[in-house]
Amino acid sequence: MDDRLFRTAMGKFATGVTVITTEVDGEAFGMTANAFMSVSLDPKLVLISVGKKAKMHERLKKSKKYAVNILTKEQEKLSMLFAGQLKEEFEVDFGRIQDLPIIDGALVNITCHVDKEVEAGDHTLFIGKVTHIQMNDGSPLMFFGGKYCEMKEEPSEIQSV
Ligand code: FAD
Ligand code: NAD
Repeated sequence: MDDRLFRTAMGKFATGVTVITTEVDGEAFGMTANAFMSVSLDPKLVLISVGKKAKMHERLKKSKKYAVNILTKEQEKLSMLFAGQLKEEFEVDFGRIQDLPIIDGALVNITCHVDKEVEAGDHTLFIGKVTHIQMNDGSPLMFFGGKYCEMKEEPSEIQSV
């Protein structure tokens, strides 16, 4: 099967956009990812799929921990930065939750410790056990058909937990 056909078809699945962050030897790194899903409630597990050629792959193998930062519509530039799509890169002031760097102002920050690594073709699925969740109000950045987009209506404020 043609790669373009596969990507075009997969691109019809509208998703949010996350930046995966981690820390290796005291240095923070990020990578834009939309291959993220909630996996299990008991225990609380999430999953990200990371290409073996991405530098983040090696970094996660070393750190064994990551944060999933679900971006707001105002954070498109950060998504482009961490996907290597900007000509001019810039420094990011990361926030922190426990032992992980996070993207401040994201809709949600989820910190995880890697529970299991599953090889899947040219990607590895990093299943993470959730250690902490932080939420903010806002509207999500979305990705559809290879393009960024926004929700038509603003979501109502989050319910306190
Ligand atoms: P690098 O090339 O090191 O980093 C990527 C970029 O982030 C570079 O420009 C770098 O300068 C910048 N950066 C990293 N750390 C910092 C820092 N501390 N401060 C400032 N800038 C920093 N790939 C997947 O494997 N899985 C996915 O689910 C996935 N989903 C994607 C969804 C979308 C919408 C897009 C646009 C891309 C997606 N990608 C995905 C592709 C992935 O984001 C790119 O291939 C990315 O460039 C891989 O980065 P890297 O880990 O090789 O790291
Ligand atoms: P695109 O048309 O390449 O992506 C559309 C959809 O195809 C994505 O949402 C994803 O579901 C799927 N896809 C794309 N590349 C993939 C890959 N290597 N492995 C598995 N699934 C993949 O959109 P685009 O705007 O051209 O993407 C920008 C860059 O980001 C491209 O280089 C693309 O390969 C990469 N990307 C990678 C993934 C991933 O690895 N899971 C996901 C999205 C985008």
